[in-house]
Amino acid sequence: MKLIIASNNAHKISEIRDILGAHFGEILSMREAGIEHETVEDGQTFMENAVKKAKEMAEISGCCALADDSGLCVDALDGGPGIYSARFSGVHGDDEANNDLLLKKLENTEDRGAHYTCAMALVYPDGRMLTAEGYLYGEITRERAGTNGFGYDPLFFLPERGCTTAQLSPEEKNAISHRANALHALVRQLENR
Ligand code: IMP
Repeated sequence: MKLIIASNNAHKISEIRDILGAHFGEILSMREAGIEHETVEDGQTFMENAVKKAKEMAEISGCCALADDSGLCVDALDGGPGIYSARFSGVHGDDEANNDLLLKKLENTEDRGAHYTCAMALVYPDGRMLTAEGYLYGEITRERAGTNGFGYDPLFFLPERGCTTAQLSPEEKNAISHRANALHALVRQLENR
């Protein structure tokens, strides 16, 4: 069966191919499938956004579709920036400004706990759906460290590793990431059906 991923992010596509490859005959990005589409992400949760993206893609393509939505949830910010992670500072995708704002907001707090969340939705053309969430727990540092990864990775510290996710190699991060954890949870559901 063919699977269309509601994304053109090369990093996500290759991670998804690695983990779901055995379960689908072909896995294509939107671009590879010749589809141009942008879902309005107006859900109140990561899962609402992932489900909306996957349903629209299954309808447009007539194929099985997978979508994800992810972000950073900080304890001292009551789970924020959450679904607003990409545009925390106001400008969508401005990682530097987002990290500056995060440091500023946490300046006077010792409560540094945080986690990444990833919601995944897999929708079949007949409307059947599987969903899963994955998490990665850590702490927000007071200074950036590392140059790998993206987004909040230079500030996301893993106590058990003694480094930030920006100091992990892509392979090391992919092995423990919230996205990988959500994908493995989906695989368990596919294998138990
Ligand atoms: P998306 O759902 O993958 O587009 O991610 C939304 C936003 O969440 C990104 O723009 C980042 O700010 C943040 N984010 C999600 N996953 C990660 C991650 O693995 N590292 C750092 N930031 C992330």
